[in-house]
Parts: sequence; structure tokens; C-alpha cells
Amino acid sequence: NEEQFYRDTWVEVNLDHIRDNVAQMKSLLPGDVEMMAVVKANAYGHGDVQVAKTALEAGASSLAVAFLDEALALRQKGIDAPILVLGATNPSYVQIAAEHQITLTIFQEDWVREAKEVLGKDATVSVHLKLDTGMGRIGIRDKETLLKIEGLLGEDPRFQLDGVFTHFATADSGDLSYFQEQLSKFKSMISALKTKPRMIHASNSAASLREPAAFFNGIRFGIAMYGLSPSVEMKEALPFSLKEAFSLRTKLIHVKKLLPGETVSYGATYEAQEEEWIGTLPIGYADGWIRKLQGNVVLVNGMRVPIVGRICMDQCMIKLPCELTVGTVVTLIGQDQNDAIAIDEVASWLDTINYEIPCLISSRVPRIYV
Ligand code: PLP
Repeated sequence: NEEQFYRDTWVEVNLDHIRDNVAQMKSLLPGDVEMMAVVKANAYGHGDVQVAKTALEAGASSLAVAFLDEALALRQKGIDAPILVLGATNPSYVQIAAEHQITLTIFQEDWVREAKEVLGKDATVSVHLKLDTGMGRIGIRDKETLLKIEGLLGEDPRFQLDGVFTHFATADSGDLSYFQEQLSKFKSMISALKTKPRMIHASNSAASLREPAAFFNGIRFGIAMYGLSPSVEMKEALPFSLKEAFSLRTKLIHVKKLLPGETVSYGATYEAQEEEWIGTLPIGYADGWIRKLQGNVVLVNGMRVPIVGRICMDQCMIKLPCELTVGTVVTLIGQDQNDAIAIDEVASWLDTINYEIPCLISSRVPRIYV
């Protein structure tokens, strides 16, 4: 909790829960299977360096991010564990990756040719090959291209082919037939490689939690590390219980009584029907508490109360059961006394997936670690 802040809205991240989720998954992995902790997007909104350190202590041996900038940010914050950039990196930045010992994902012949021009003659860079076995996003789609890229890398000792991987599109769904097709395609493609790289990995959280046949010698563990189920379907059949780590809290900054007919917020869309107590919260859509959340609930003293009127950029209003004191803590996500608003519940209100919710809570909201 190095960062000082002066607002009454914060995210609480429970690092013990992240530690437990990692340790539980790790205990299900054979000894030769490494865990890569996926900490892209500021660790799904939880805080990159704090989650990275916790995951590494709990049994992960490396980290994965989406972009080179995210890897460099971790290096700047003192993380020296191996980091893989899962997304595409412009080849003109290969020297920067080499200098910071960041592993890049590659999948195009031209990328290798361009990177060869840019990389210093004494530099070395570690790379993983990405195979597109059916996700249809990035990756090598056929053996011919795979062998060409392997050849281009093999003739230049500055490039260390350290890994090969793929990503599943449907590992979290009820029907695993497409997953099985991808798995067979992956096995067939890697069998074509002249030399097996050190690390072969395919599984995201969903596959890691349900299909040991896809472990190879590494998994990329993301959403479940944060205590969230990869899908609603999988919730009933998890091998261990996941512990959610992210809570969002604020405090009442103003409390007032409205008379019948008086209104709240932009558009004057909410009108008091009787004498009502209204509380104001210092959180709004610029914090990621988006306007669509109007009409849903928050927890005050363990009670569910509605968000009334339009959500503003920095503030929103709730209807209180009675007069409450300024400074009372309000929970938007997380446990409060005997009730809890889970991330899955907020995701269902917004008709989206749990992944999106902590990512949505913007960097303006300070994260504290408990
Ligand atoms: N691997 C890749 C390539 C990804 O893009 C992601 C996340 O989207 C993950 C692994 C982690 O997936 P999950 O969060 O479902 O575990």
C-alpha cells in the first residue's frame, strides 16, 4: 500500500485469496508442469506487481502479459522473473525486449526477417511460437509456415526458441468437442517441429481446471487465480473452491431527505414518492461504475439498496433505508456483513462476463492490499 490517496473510494485486493487459488491449482499439477501467472491488463484490474509477486511466491514460475509495455512496467517495478508477452510486438522493438529479457510471441516469417535487421549483433532474445489451432486470432496456421519460421530462427543464434503454444477458444464451454479438435491440431503441429522447445503450453484457466490431458509442461493461469470461474457453466464442477479477491468500496459523502416530488440527478428521472433518504457516493462512470448500473444495488450495513437516478461521471446516488451518517462504508462489489455482491452478479446485470468487471474499474480508483 505504497500509494497515498485522498478519496473515499477504493478497491480492496485480497492477496491471500490469490495465493490460495494459485497454490490450489499448483497442487493439482504434476511436478514438471510450470504455472505461468497471467497478469496482463494490470492483473485483470487487481494490480500487476502485487499479484505478480504473490503468484510467484505461491508457486508460479513465470508471468504473462499482453503487451511489451506491460512487461516493461513489471521490470521497472523490480520483477525479474521470466515474462512472456502473449500478444504481437512490433519487430522494431525487439532490441528493447532483448535488453530487458522479455520473451516475445512470434508467428510471422516477416517478423523474424525484420527483427533480424534490428536486433544488436551481440543481443539475444527469447521467443515463443504461437500456433493458431482454431482461436482465429493470431498464430501460425499450418506446418509449412511453422517449419519456415523454425528454420529462420535456427539459422540465427541471437534468437532462442524457448516455447511453443496455442490458445483454446471453447475450453470453458459445456461441449468440449471443438477443444478436442484444437488439442489434436496442436499435437500434430508440434510433432512437425525439428526441435522441441523447452516449454509447450496451451491451457488457460478453464482447460487447467478440467483437462490434465492439455497440461503439456505449462499452463497459463489467469481468471481463476483471481477467484473467478472461467464460465458460468463451469461453476458447479470446479476441482476446488475459488476465492474472489476483488472488492469495491466507497463511503457516503452526503445524506439528505427528499420530499415527495423532488428529483435526483441528470434528466431528473428519479422522483421521490414519499419522504426518502438519499445518499451520495463518490464514484461514477469515469471510475468504471458505468451508467448501465443504474437501478442495480449496493450494500450498506449488509442491506441491499438501489442506485437511483442517472450515474454521473464522478458520483451516484442511492436510496437509504433511513438516515445514515456521512462516512458509512458502502460496498459495490464484495462481502458486507451477511451478504455479498459477487463479480459474477455484477457481470450478469451488465450482460457480460466476469473478466470484464475488474478490468472496467479504472485506474482512478486506488487499489489497496489486504
Ligand atoms: N493465454 C492467453 C493467450 C490469453 O489471451 C489469456 C487470457 O485471455 C490467458 C492465457 C488466460 O486465460 P484465463 O484468464 O481464461 O485463464
